[in-house]
Amino acid sequence: MRVAIVGAGVAGLVAARRLAQLGHGVRVLEAADAPGGMIRPARLAGLQIDIGAEAFAVRGGAVAELVVELGLTAELVEPRALGSWGYQDGEAYAQPKGGLFGLPPGPDAAGLEAAVGPEGVAAVAHEATLDPHIGADAANLADLVRARYGERILHRLVAPVTRGVYSLDPELMRVDALLPGVLEQLRKHGSLGAVVRDRRAAAWPGALVRSVRGGMHRFVAALVADCERLGVAFEYGARLRHLDELPEHDSAIVTVPPSDDFPYLGGARAGEGVLSEVVALLLDAPALDAHPRGTGLLVAPSASGADPVRAKALTHVTAKWPWLDEATGAGRHIVRLSYANPADASPQQALADASALLGTPLDAEQLVDQARQLWHMPPPPARLGAAQTRAKLQDAVADLPPNIRCIGTWIAGTGLASVVPQANQVAQELQNVD
Ligand SMILES: Cc1cc2nc3c(=O)[nH]c(=O)nc-3n(C[C@H](O)[C@H](O)[C@H](O)COP(=O)(O)OP(=O)(O)OC[C@H]3O[C@@H](n4cnc5c(N)ncnc54)[C@H](O)[C@@H]3O)c2cc1C
Repeated sequence: MRVAIVGAGVAGLVAARRLAQLGHGVRVLEAADAPGGMIRPARLAGLQIDIGAEAFAVRGGAVAELVVELGLTAELVEPRALGSWGYQDGEAYAQPKGGLFGLPPGPDAAGLEAAVGPEGVAAVAHEATLDPHIGADAANLADLVRARYGERILHRLVAPVTRGVYSLDPELMRVDALLPGVLEQLRKHGSLGAVVRDRRAAAWPGALVRSVRGGMHRFVAALVADCERLGVAFEYGARLRHLDELPEHDSAIVTVPPSDDFPYLGGARAGEGVLSEVVALLLDAPALDAHPRGTGLLVAPSASGADPVRAKALTHVTAKWPWLDEATGAGRHIVRLSYANPADASPQQALADASALLGTPLDAEQLVDQARQLWHMPPPPARLGAAQTRAKLQDAVADLPPNIRCIGTWIAGTGLASVVPQANQVAQELQNVD
């Protein structure tokens, strides 16, 4: 069978590899001049770092299995367990321990009082006494958290996570998007704190994410090398606008959402995407050797509206990943800031934000190098209304001829832990199509 694949991101590469392993002829068409999609290296003073995805969730085990198959077992790395911080209006606070997506496990959680003050602790204690039906009719995640805990927990603990990690305000998030089945569990366990404790107890032990020494771009390079070894042909600079442009094929896999430029699903569209600009700074800043904000901070919305910080999150990359700490050497640090509005993402703003967020004076002379990348991400599946859009998309996908399949983050969900198993499964299923 001859298979044509559109897109050389992780979805396309994983499907290409599996199909080639099964003995099929595979051709991958990629619009950019390099593979990897949302995994991409950038250079900071000669050092390669990830400017897109920098880790993968261990849930499900599919990505780690692939890393092992690619011979990178010895290169698997875990982040330092330094904890992360929140920040609001000039004040940084360590996130309480044992929580889930910002929701605390209970009023005794270590660090809770420092993060939300005595009134926040009282709100968490009160939540355990509330009728489990309170909040059950919430239209979005913000309404649920507000009904159970009030504004302080919503703004200081939950909103920074949804904004920083999912690029969404909690007002725009479906209630069960972060915690599927949460309302049912709330009725069963009696309080959200008890739901958090129950889920934490059932979670995978150890770190929730892992990466590859040298960066996730090495994982892409290993995937491409394996594909080439198996005879997969790659064509770069090949932006498809119509399925008729595919080379001769028996089956095809499309890994990109339908768009006005590539309307292969008739009128169906994936909905409004999300912009995120990542700015990486290499700093000569020995004061950061102490890792003053753990692995980084998530920024809460400013209550006063007057805070000058524009970033929505900062990762202290050299604090998080020991291999990179060794590579940069003592006194040198890498931080990555992300911005919802690209107009805010100048190196000057990033330096000022890093200084405020890390609580450490940083000036332009300490900036050794910088890199930036604007990402256009597909609409987050957790967004309100996304379920209906996805259902329509899935109908349109189902109307395609059976030898054409769709995969990738826009339809599988955000993150490599969702993308990799779907790509393997669909490649396997194509085998059975006549
Ligand atoms: C800043 C950032 C940080 C992230 N962090 C993490 C993380 O820490 N952990 C995690 O698990 N996930 C993370 N993700 C998400 C993860 O990177 C994605 O879920 C995954 O890489 C998507 O792979 P994909 O192949 O589905 O899509 P993509 O990577 O988008 O690949 C699609 C490819 O198709 C190409 N293409 C587009 N249109 C056409 C066309 N018309 N013709 C031909 N080619 C086309 C594109 O150039 C691209 O190479 C992050 C994403 C970003 C942007």
